[in-house]
Amino acid sequence: MVLLPKRLTFVFSLIILLLSMALTTQKTPQDFSKQLFDNHEDFKEKTITKRRFKHNDIVPLIENLPFDVQKIGKSFEQRDIYQIKLGSGKIKVLLWSQMHGDEPTATMALMDIFKFFQAKSDSFDALRAKILENCTLYFVPMLNPDGAERYQRRTATDIDMNRDALRFQTPEGQILKKLQEELQPDFSFNLHDKGTKYSAGASGKQATISFLATSYNHEKEWNATRTRAMQVICGMHDALQPFIPGHLGRWNDDHEPRAFGDNIAKWGSSLILIESGGYKDDIEKQFIRKLNFIAILNGLQAISEKSYKKYKLKDYQTIPNNDRYLFDLLIRNAAFVQDGKVTIKDIGINLSEKNINNATDFEYLSVIEDLGDLSTFWGIKEIDAKDLKVSLLSEFPEIIQKYKISEKIAQNTELNLDEAASFVLTKDKEVKYLILNGQIK
Ligand SMILES: [Zn+2]
Repeated sequence: MVLLPKRLTFVFSLIILLLSMALTTQKTPQDFSKQLFDNHEDFKEKTITKRRFKHNDIVPLIENLPFDVQKIGKSFEQRDIYQIKLGSGKIKVLLWSQMHGDEPTATMALMDIFKFFQAKSDSFDALRAKILENCTLYFVPMLNPDGAERYQRRTATDIDMNRDALRFQTPEGQILKKLQEELQPDFSFNLHDKGTKYSAGASGKQATISFLATSYNHEKEWNATRTRAMQVICGMHDALQPFIPGHLGRWNDDHEPRAFGDNIAKWGSSLILIESGGYKDDIEKQFIRKLNFIAILNGLQAISEKSYKKYKLKDYQTIPNNDRYLFDLLIRNAAFVQDGKVTIKDIGINLSEKNINNATDFEYLSVIEDLGDLSTFWGIKEIDAKDLKVSLLSEFPEIIQKYKISEKIAQNTELNLDEAASFVLTKDKEVKYLILNGQIK
């Protein structure tokens, strides 16, 4: 061991300290994500604030973009479908959203990304320059405008466009196929929403964002193209993890021969699927829109810098699979009195959305999905009803009057599976919870 004079040791320690400070302050993708998270409001397209917006709402925004904007075709009902091109780099990236009309979260994020690329003279200048120098980006927002008009998954012809990549019967699917053939994109982003009741692994946490490096064959093999998609996903996963720990998942990688993602992967593009799920109380998915904004920009950054190459398959495999362990509302340990006997049951309640007002708004439909021991499940919302009794609304005329409850529900004489969930939880005849149409009042 060499003994150093005291002063030399001090200088060495100082150098090591400065070096480690320099390393930790270096911009990692994660650091950028934090900045994007903090500054998203500056780039938000403020005219869009909820999920049920239509083609008419985004056309003026697209037409006004100072980018290369082209009409690349029309939907079945003659709505224009646009391509927005940015950048001049060698790496071609194709991004499309809302091929399912009721899956609009990424479309909102793309509108924000267009604002992001219009901004300048801020701390993101280097990021923008890097992406646009190295990549050419082709965006197709709202590929299914007829479906968006009705807020439905399918196109106007009632075909699921994402099962039309073999027959090409939808004009919208033909547009996507033509784009893929002409551009031969190196990377593709296939942007969707999924049900809000998927959990991240066997947990009570909603899978808020899920990813998939889509399989190009039934054997789910890993060629170089699919591997690149997987690596970019690992980076996006790491970028989002601090904001939604435990709420990230992986979508099922079974190969679907009729789906566009699977075929575009087969035709040689590194295909990245992003599925926006649910997050507690984010009914209009505005927080999830922000997460999409961060994830997509993080992915583009990684592609432009090729910084994704450090990730391994085992990193990807640590992302939990999507699973089904959630009810919208789970009431545990409620006492049911039937024929004078008490039975303890959990109540699993789910909600679905029904479009109203020309699909500009919605109302909930509730259903009692399951009764009994649901201890292996979780609720997005939960009530512990220990020592509480399930009572019928008909026993509480003042509630019926106050909430203007319909006669049909008010007269309900029992609580049944597969029926709407409206009842009260009581303790010694005192109302502790009122559940109306599956929601806690
Ligand atoms: Zn979809």
